[in-house]
Amino acid sequence: MNHNQLPIAIIGGGPVGLAAAAHLVNQNQPFVLFESGSRIGHNLLSWAHVRVFSPWKYNLDKVAVKLLQQQGWQTPDEDGLPTGASLVEDYLEPLSNLPQLKPYIVLNAKVVQINRKGLDKVKTKGREAQPFVIQVEQGEEQLTYEAKAVIDASGTWQNPNPLGTGGNFALGEQAHADHIFYGIPEVLGKNKARFANKNTLVVGGGHSAINSILDLRKLVSDYPETEIHWVLRKENLETVFGGKEKDSLAARGALGKRIEKLVRTGKVKVYTPFQITEIHTQANGRLQVVGQQQDALKALENIDQIICNTGARPDFSFLREIRYNTDAALESVPALAPLIDPNVHSCGTVRPHGEAELRQPEKDFYVVGSKSYGRAPTFLMATGYEQVRSIVAALVGNWEAARQVQLNLPETGVCSNNLTQKVTEPASEELLTQNGGC
Ligand SMILES: Cc1cc2nc3c(=O)[nH]c(=O)nc-3n(C[C@H](O)[C@H](O)[C@H](O)COP(=O)(O)OP(=O)(O)OC[C@H]3O[C@@H](n4cnc5c(N)ncnc54)[C@H](O)[C@@H]3O)c2cc1C
Repeated sequence: MNHNQLPIAIIGGGPVGLAAAAHLVNQNQPFVLFESGSRIGHNLLSWAHVRVFSPWKYNLDKVAVKLLQQQGWQTPDEDGLPTGASLVEDYLEPLSNLPQLKPYIVLNAKVVQINRKGLDKVKTKGREAQPFVIQVEQGEEQLTYEAKAVIDASGTWQNPNPLGTGGNFALGEQAHADHIFYGIPEVLGKNKARFANKNTLVVGGGHSAINSILDLRKLVSDYPETEIHWVLRKENLETVFGGKEKDSLAARGALGKRIEKLVRTGKVKVYTPFQITEIHTQANGRLQVVGQQQDALKALENIDQIICNTGARPDFSFLREIRYNTDAALESVPALAPLIDPNVHSCGTVRPHGEAELRQPEKDFYVVGSKSYGRAPTFLMATGYEQVRSIVAALVGNWEAARQVQLNLPETGVCSNNLTQKVTEPASEELLTQNGGC
């Protein structure tokens, strides 16, 4: 088969992978989408009970909406806040079931290897003329597909960062894995027995940790013995509370206000900055969590459960034979790093970007969506939709459309560089300009 007649492969059936599929349909391009889970939106379903902070109007891709509306789909209330479950059931699944998409989506299909046909990473001669070969584990079978381009939208959520200081596992972390929940548990639902009347230590300083704590707090009225401890690595809690009333997403601002109140009233015991180094089992069977707080070694005693919300990191293992670059610190696409570096600023705004910034040394291979941000935690779906719009325009040769990137993101109303917190480096003039002085 002629290389150009091959489909474009998309890895991952999250919001960004499916938006890429919608844009390819819109351009009459053949595609195949591989999703490792048994349902579309597999990662969102692992936090199905969590309500997101951006309203529907920011969570929908415009071309996907156009295709859905052609089939009589009712747009959700644009100001409503969906849960992870609702994003899948009311948007992503209807999109994936459209007749233009459904036959080309392969579920239970985990991409395990990619290379240029007949060439390893080192070989240059004739490289761009060769199709990509994609190996996929589908149930018991290993299948091989060919594609003319690859869009990697596989996210980061399945590769959580560990608890330990320095980004490595704490001593004893793996041995105590059955006491540690990586992700956002359904504290008020199916995971209730695990946390009711228990001492839980939540680790992390982002929205996932805040969601975990707010749910644990709701458990206290029915289970008054429930205790909440919170460990953060941050020096300054103000960055965690965020922009509050200044945040242009009211729900995100409200999360900050609620957690601040719990902390100020002592309902949550906070240890910060605290670097976890060791986890032990006490004589009574409960956990002792040891770490460095300021200059002293401190032990948190009688912990029953730990919720690890320390972020996530990308998986590059299946890209071993692909030529790609990542930022040395963030593991993001390199050109994005100065715009999203949490050392410099914490706001969710980012300069509009598209194919040019996401281009990799391997022609026609792109990393998009939350994976394009690497370890940076501020990715928003709207960013990913603009990324894939631009990339698909480039793949069909419409370079003018590919270059005209536009992005209107809601601002957090706060950024590390306008707080009196310690940051490793001051923000440069250039960055302040690029981010509208965020
Ligand atoms: C709790 C929470 C709340 C959030 N709230 C918001 C919000 O309010 N607004 C907002 O804009 N953003 C929000 N985000 C951030 C972000 O938009 C989401 O994480 C979003 O799901 C990212 O989309 P994605 O398509 O890049 O990746 P994902 O949704 O993570 O999708 C990746 C997909 O790839 C699949 N996959 C992984 N590896 C493979 C493989 N090897 N082969 C095949 N398939 C694979 C996975 O199963 C998954 O379905 C939130 C994130 C979290 C965790």
